[in-house]
Amino acid sequence: MVRPQLGHMDPDLMPMLEETSALLRRVFQTANELAFPISGTGTAGMEACLVNTLEPGDRIVVAVSGFFAQRIAEVAARAGADVEVVEAPWGQAVDPADLARTLGRRRAKVLAATHVETSTGVLQPVQEFAAIAQEHGALLLVDAVASLGGVDLPVDQWGIDICYSGSQKCLSAPPGMAPVTANDRVRRLPRAHPVRSYYLDLTLLWQYWGHPHAYHHTVPVAFVFAIHEALRLTVEEGLPARFARHALNASALGAGLEALGLRLFAPAPLRAPSVVTVEVPVGVDEARVRERLLTDHGIEIAGGLGPLRGRIWRVGLMGHSSQDRLVLLLLTALETALASEGFRFEPGAGMAAASRVLAASSAA
Ligand code: PMP
Repeated sequence: MVRPQLGHMDPDLMPMLEETSALLRRVFQTANELAFPISGTGTAGMEACLVNTLEPGDRIVVAVSGFFAQRIAEVAARAGADVEVVEAPWGQAVDPADLARTLGRRRAKVLAATHVETSTGVLQPVQEFAAIAQEHGALLLVDAVASLGGVDLPVDQWGIDICYSGSQKCLSAPPGMAPVTANDRVRRLPRAHPVRSYYLDLTLLWQYWGHPHAYHHTVPVAFVFAIHEALRLTVEEGLPARFARHALNASALGAGLEALGLRLFAPAPLRAPSVVTVEVPVGVDEARVRERLLTDHGIEIAGGLGPLRGRIWRVGLMGHSSQDRLVLLLLTALETALASEGFRFEPGAGMAAASRVLAASSAA
């Protein structure tokens, strides 16, 4: 990011735009032509995908079992869509059978879901959602903000039509860019009106990112440098190695937390590799523990959102921060913080359990 700036129309920047798209195709595992980062955070990616697929009155079914899927429903409603929400309790995945029933009752243009629901730490069965969307002739829109580059999401193989992410999570670039990809089904959608958002019109944006590199807005070039490098590092490590690293570190942390006597929030088969959620034990001040971790150990974990506020902690193990040594460091620091809250556990048990998981994998 501190490289000397290039102008957004400088011919020397153009190869980097093209490389960024090519790298994104690899990371999204897609042959889609349209793949580039929107200038903005994950929510801009969300809004772009919604306003480019929906016109006022179009019906969308949103699978909601957490804060970010709720946001999808809210953005779709503001875009004038006819929104139907299919819910599951927070901490569960939405049941594919419920989605099938809802889509079977009345046709919808789009089915939308989060892949990793960051508010609950749940990994949703997007592949099953895709089969249902296909059966009912709906486009599948997926939020991969907390998964792209850390959790397997083969866009083409699973039949995802449009997908967005954020630069700051499993790609570990600074916040500020939202990778998107869309297939030809989306790009050829007949429209009665132009896309309501000029800034987020994917067709116009692709005129800049793709050929003829026509001016649309002044892209934040330092952020292009950043995401280009983050994607390069992602591809250099290799997607299978990255997915395995995220899965291993999350299971090591989960084992360590359970060994301390804590309860993981997301149920075992649905645990996301990129965010580990854990219940705050009775009698422990959740905000004080987070504050202690941050001020005494320089570790930031998150609290719960919405109805889970005060009830869970959320530990992001994403991209560069998904490291075995950070898992062990957190468990050590957490022991100190929990001890000062009067929570009783077997000292060293968390580290030992996590180390066993990590050692078993390096022996395998
Ligand atoms: N979707 C999910 C699943 C997220 O985790 C987030 C951010 N935590 C967003 C959307 C919104 O992204 P941003 O905060 O970058 O706008």
